[in-house]
Amino acid sequence: MTSQKTKTERLEQSRIVRAKVLAEIDTCDPDVVPPAGAILADKQQLAHNNTYGPLPGFYIDKVVVCRQCKTEEVWSADQQKWWYEVAKGDINTTAVLCRMCREKEKKCKDEARRIHIEGLKKKHGHTHNGT
Ligand SMILES: [Zn+2]
Repeated sequence: MTSQKTKTERLEQSRIVRAKVLAEIDTCDPDVVPPAGAILADKQQLAHNNTYGPLPGFYIDKVVVCRQCKTEEVWSADQQKWWYEVAKGDINTTAVLCRMCREKEKKCKDEARRIHIEGLKKKHGHTHNGT
């Protein structure tokens, strides 16, 4: 019997294997023909990078290892494009947390913010109460 979960896991696994093969490709080499699934980079959107180094001509799925749980995960080409061109991430930065840890991190931050705001409210409400 194959459950939905193992199917997804197997799919993720094959994406990782494929991304590892693609890692051989130099995305900054203008002579390289982008492989199937590559997303072309918009160099104008990369102009914020203060670098003399080469900028990528395209993005391909990439394997990243989570800094926290050491899980290998595929950082997809379109996510990279978003990070570098829309979010204006530095070209030398890569995703460091896997999806699960990112979600956990986000929840922690939200929780911290909530506690902080509640703390502020309490402080303000703690002025003279009379009798
Ligand atoms: Zn992780």
